[in-house]
Amino acid sequence: MIEITSANIEKAINKARQTKPFVKVIEFRRYQVTNKATGATYEVKFTKINNTKYAECNCKATVICYHIGASVGVHIVLAEQLHTATA
Ligand SMILES: [Zn+2]
Repeated sequence: MIEITSANIEKAINKARQTKPFVKVIEFRRYQVTNKATGATYEVKFTKINNTKYAECNCKATVICYHIGASVGVHIVLAEQLHTATA
């Protein structure tokens, strides 16, 4: 698991904007990210512990990768919808 910071997630989101992978929701906090060019699919998970956010991806990267960057946009929208639903 890697801690998400505003700096590393911004980098990952920028990379995702260039790569434009396809993100599929498996369940809340679990996403499947497919690179449309290569067909490679990875799974991203988000975790929150004591207000610190973590993410992990099963690709080779040991940093916040663009798969996480691509998923986080979907994740934020879902989190807001769930929050609204339970409010
Ligand atoms: Zn990855």
